[in-house]
Formats: sequence, C-alpha cells, structure tokens
Amino acid sequence: MFVLILGAPGSGKGTQGTILAGHLGIPQVSTGDLLRAAVKAGTPLGKKAKGYMDQGLLVPDSVILGLINEILDSEQARGGLLMDGFPRTVAQAMAVDRILSAKGHRVDRVAMLDVDEQELAQRLLGRAAKEGRSDDNPQSIQQRLRVYHQLTAPLIAYYESQGVVRRVAGMGDINAIQQRLRIAVA
Ligand code: ADP
Repeated sequence: MFVLILGAPGSGKGTQGTILAGHLGIPQVSTGDLLRAAVKAGTPLGKKAKGYMDQGLLVPDSVILGLINEILDSEQARGGLLMDGFPRTVAQAMAVDRILSAKGHRVDRVAMLDVDEQELAQRLLGRAAKEGRSDDNPQSIQQRLRVYHQLTAPLIAYYESQGVVRRVAGMGDINAIQQRLRIAVA
C-alpha cells in the first residue's frame, strides 16, 4: 500500500505518519528528515538544500526528483510506503505516479490532515522553542505556510481527480486523530 500524508507544516504529518506506518506495517519515509540528515552530514545534497530550507522555500524539483526516485526505487519501498513530505508539488506528484506505475503500483490513499491556520502557527512556534529546528522561526514559518498554499495544496485537487483523497480532522487528541486516520486509509 502506498499512502501519502498531506498537510500544512505543523499539521502532524510526521507524528501521525510514524504511528500509522507502524500500524500498516509499511516503512515511513520523510523527505524533510532525509534532507535534514543530509544537511547535518554536509553531503552535496545537503549543501544544495540548506539555504532553501532555512528560508522556508521548497528545495527545487530538479534537486528533489533524484531523491524521490532513489526512495521509490529502494528495496524498502517494494511492498508499500508511507510518504511524508513528498510529493509536494504537482510536478513531484506526476513523477511519483510515473515511477510507481512503472512498477505496477499507484498512490492508493492520500490522507489530508486538516488543521486551522492559527493552530499551525502555534504548534510550529512551540516546536521551535523545544527542538530548535533552524526553519522554525517566524519568517520561515510564514513562508512555509505560503508555499504550502501555493504549491502543495493544489495536490488535493490533483489526487481528488483520482478519487483517493480522505480528509481527516487534525485537531485535538493525538490518539483520536490516529483513529480517524486509520479509518480514512482503510
Ligand atoms: P514541514 O512540513 O513542517 O515544513 P518538512 O520536514 O516536511 O517540514 O520539510 C522541511 C523543509 O524541507 C521544507 O520547507 C522544504 O524546504 C524541504 N522539503 C522537504 N520535502 C520536500 C520536497 N518534497 N520538495 C521540496 N522541498 C522539500
């Protein structure tokens, strides 16, 4: 099963995705986590990505498409995958479709986590205080929310036309959200 968790920054994709992937018995891969590891390790990918990430901009598709290809081609993704943080643009979604269909797969479910804007900003600022992620500062947060609406939200319509989108209320108790998610992707 190939499942995509879609939602604004701060919507809980990572937290909920980890629990859901365990429940479904498929690996979770987050491009955000992979990019942060690459930045930390100082790899060529990390060097290309860092400036964009710190400003709250997307890493260009020309850089990301190679990473997505690598992920979907990997042994661990053979039997399914929970995709967290990608695809994030329509061009990325088309690339994912192309790669998966060549393997006889498709995106089976898109779980869309709905969280209101005020709560998103609050969560991201809270996380900034706790984890010190370099992109969790007020300017970058505003930019990430703008980028989400501009480039990532159009994926909802893209996948709605495939009939695979399930909207999930992403506010409130973590366990309650997880229960709703499980029902949505079943
Ligand atoms: P969040 O959703 O909270 O912003 P992520 O960890 O998913 O956090 O992403 C952090 C940053 O990593 C993004 O702002 C962007 O710069 C970069 N990034 C992650 N995934 C992608 C992707 N698929 N395409 C382009 N950039 C990405």
